[in-house]
Amino acid sequence: MLEVRGLTRRFGGLAALSEVSVRVPAGRTLGVIGPNGSGKSTLINVVTGHLKPTSGTVLINGRDLTGARPWTVAKAGVGRTFQVVKPFRGMSVRENVMVAATYGAHGRTAADAAGLATDVLARVGLAGQAGRAPAELSVADARRLELARALALEPRLLFLDEVLAGLRPAEIDPALDLIRALAAEGVTIVVVEHVVRAIVEVSDEVLVLHEGKVLTSGPPDRVMADPRVIEAYLGHRYAR
Ligand code: ATP
Ligand code: MG
Repeated sequence: MLEVRGLTRRFGGLAALSEVSVRVPAGRTLGVIGPNGSGKSTLINVVTGHLKPTSGTVLINGRDLTGARPWTVAKAGVGRTFQVVKPFRGMSVRENVMVAATYGAHGRTAADAAGLATDVLARVGLAGQAGRAPAELSVADARRLELARALALEPRLLFLDEVLAGLRPAEIDPALDLIRALAAEGVTIVVVEHVVRAIVEVSDEVLVLHEGKVLTSGPPDRVMADPRVIEAYLGHRYAR
């Protein structure tokens, strides 16, 4: 379960995130959409400890983790991907996933981490690339590695920041199936995407950010039919 109350993050004079409140019950999937620069990644970064909030509260499974460090948040059962992928360059794909497994909520031993890495790499479709260096991967496979590293943490709460970016159309459906399978296993998921169809298909609820604020939220069909959402996506400004 994730609950965010009045979350604000300023960069100098810019409120990248402004008084955002949202609740994601355990096992549900929240889709987050909004134009470029609307605060989607900032929301993930603040909740996962990669940025300090200026104000507001972050509760994860009922625990107050406001301003906690990334390691503390990961140990609390939270996994995330980065929009700009961040593998350890000097390690193989498989070693990258094993490191995540030892770092996660359960702190796996090397032997357990090896087994977990095999499972996770197969799950994301990277079994054949396990021995490669991250630099040798295609854009799509680099995204898969990012996802594999997040899954190796064995998260109960998972943040996905544009994991479909760079995937070919035929690769999108298998990725959506994986997200749905994780949700069916009880993982609480927050998924940020520009692919609106993907958001509609996997989300129980959609949150729309615009200039750091919540424009609206609700069931996918209702949100997507909202004229303000369509207008925001077309890049028009509206009276505030
Ligand atoms: P995109 O769809 O392009 O990924 P986003 O919705 O994820 O956009 P954010 O990356 O959260 O947007 O950025 C929100 C705003 O905060 C933008 O105006 C961005 O330039 C600004 N911003 C984000 N990170 C920083 C930073 N570290 N320092 C200064 N400004 C930042
Ligand atoms: Mg972003």
